[in-house]
Amino acid sequence: MKCPVCGNDCVDNAHDILLSIGQIFSPCPDCHGRVLDKRSPLKSRFYEPPCSCGKRFIDEVFAQTYVIMVEEGTFRGTEPLAKIGIPLIHPGFFMREPPFLPARSLVLVSGVVTRDVAVRLMNEVPEIRGVVRSGDFVPGIADPHLGGVPGAYDLLAGCDVRANIYPTSSGPLVLYQQQSQIHIEFPRDYNPKIESVERKITLNTQWFIDAACGIGTLGLTAARLGVPHVVLNDAWFSAAFWSAFNISLNQEFLAVDEVIMHKTYEEMKARPIGRIPEMVAETHGRQSIEVYHGDLADLYRVLPTVPVLTVLDLFNKKDSGLIERITTRFQEHVTGEVFIP
Ligand SMILES: [Zn+2]
Ligand SMILES: [Zn+2]
Repeated sequence: MKCPVCGNDCVDNAHDILLSIGQIFSPCPDCHGRVLDKRSPLKSRFYEPPCSCGKRFIDEVFAQTYVIMVEEGTFRGTEPLAKIGIPLIHPGFFMREPPFLPARSLVLVSGVVTRDVAVRLMNEVPEIRGVVRSGDFVPGIADPHLGGVPGAYDLLAGCDVRANIYPTSSGPLVLYQQQSQIHIEFPRDYNPKIESVERKITLNTQWFIDAACGIGTLGLTAARLGVPHVVLNDAWFSAAFWSAFNISLNQEFLAVDEVIMHKTYEEMKARPIGRIPEMVAETHGRQSIEVYHGDLADLYRVLPTVPVLTVLDLFNKKDSGLIERITTRFQEHVTGEVFIP
């Protein structure tokens, strides 16, 4: 499937991703690799090449990355291996063992990487899919009042679109995201937010609203459970866009005949912060799922007047006064229960 960010075929539907995960990171009988201490520097300039099966143990990929960083002057050779950055596997799911990586399965998010190093990593390390330079902030909108300029990390080489797989009680969801634009999340075997959504939904739930939806995890969980009407909304373009895209990719798990996208990635990127909610996508079929790009304070304009169940998964969860003010304002116009996952 064509990737909306780079135009190449780095996006697969949920079905194909789920078929692959049984074996994708497992070694063949010939695969081997050293387990390296991430708190220490790489002791030599040595790394194992990929096995004849095409996979390589993740620590050897890190060793080659380290050598390139030393050759390019990013490292002196005294830095610990962990200083390289955060490896994000594609597709990401809960694993008990470290992976043997096939080609193009790793997005590296690094605070130290330079453009020259990123280009070399893309050209010389087959497992690398994309290289992102991070900053000391969380990408996306941090201010619930939508003030300031939202930050994003820099994609230096390759493509940073990748998927995580989240288990729900009705089966897995495959959710894509663009890593430079969204906070990092690691799938675990137990997801308390998904579970809290599942506890709230009953057979009587007709409408479920995910008012600050991120890449759509909780709204799509409700849709996967069969809630007839689901509305997802986010003020950050990348979140709203990928929520919409993720409906298409997971369409086979939903009672949806067609997903209609009303906006392109480029259109949304040009106006990154949404105010009055604008529709990004909607579905035809037994289930109606709508995605909006806008301020959740104005979401009532597109919601029905019947009671709805709303999840409010805000970033600044520790600020309970702020959450209360946002909830109160939301409930001035919208009836039904609002819960924090
Ligand atoms: Zn791509
Ligand atoms: Zn092998």
